[in-house]
Amino acid sequence: VPELPDVEVLRRYCEATSLHQEVRSVRVNSRLILGETSPSDLQTGLQGRTFEDTERHGKYLLVELDNGRWLVMHFGMTGSLKYVSKADRKPENTELLFAFSNGSRLAYLTTRKLGEIRLVGDAEVFIEEKDLGPDVLDSSFDFEAFQRAIAGRRAMIKSTLMNQQIMAGIGNVYSDEILFQAGIYPRTPVDELSGKAKKKVFHTMQDVLRTAIDNQADPEDFPETYIIPHRHKEGTCPRCGGEVKQVEVSGRGAYYCPRRQGKEAN
Ligand SMILES: [Zn+2]
Repeated sequence: VPELPDVEVLRRYCEATSLHQEVRSVRVNSRLILGETSPSDLQTGLQGRTFEDTERHGKYLLVELDNGRWLVMHFGMTGSLKYVSKADRKPENTELLFAFSNGSRLAYLTTRKLGEIRLVGDAEVFIEEKDLGPDVLDSSFDFEAFQRAIAGRRAMIKSTLMNQQIMAGIGNVYSDEILFQAGIYPRTPVDELSGKAKKKVFHTMQDVLRTAIDNQADPEDFPETYIIPHRHKEGTCPRCGGEVKQVEVSGRGAYYCPRRQGKEAN
C-alpha cells in the first residue's frame, strides 16, 4: 500500500524520467481509477503538454504541467509507475499509459482498480477540497504543529497518525513502524500520552519516514531493527525475539511487540 515513503520514491522516479517530454497521447484501460476526470478529459488536457515539476502531499503525487494545471495521482492499494523506452514492451498491469513524443512511455500500473488520477487547476485548492492535513514531512509541520494537530484528541494514537485530515502521508504499515520504534502501544488514546511520549512519536515519525525514503521504501533494505518485514502471523520481534502480536485499531490490524510496547492485547 503506497504510503508517504513509497509515493516520495515514485515522485523522484517520475521527476528523473518523465519531465520536459511532450505528451502525445494518453491511453486509459480502466475508467475506475479516474475519479471525476473522464478519459477524454485526460486526453484533451494532457495532449501536447509537458510535465514540468513534481510535488507530493501525503500519499498524493502532484505533477505540474507547462500550462500551470496539475495532474494528480493517488496509488490506491497497489499502484505504481514504470517508465519504458520505445523499444520496451508495455508493462503488465498497465491501467493508464502516457505516451511521449520521443517514443518513451510512463505507465501507471495497478493490480486492483483502486486509486485516482485526475487533472486539477490548482494543487492547493485540490488539497483543501480533499480536506487533507499537512504533509507530515513538510518543513512547516514541526513539533509545535504536530502538537496542535493532535491536541484534545481521544482517538487511539495509531488511528490518529493514519487520519489524513489530521496529517497526511501515514497508513497502516508505517504507523506500526513508528509506534514500534517509539515503544508505544497502538491503542493508546492520544490524550493519555505524556508530553515526552508525544515528542518521541513526532521525532520517530520523521526518522522512520526519512529512513524508508533513503532506502527506496524497500523493506529488504530497512534497518534490521524494523518491524515492517515481520508484520505477519508468527512474526518475531526484531528487537527482543518475542512474538509479534496483532490488535485491532479502527477495523485494521496493528502489529506490535507486547514486551516493547506496553500492554497485552485485550
Ligand atoms: Zn520485542
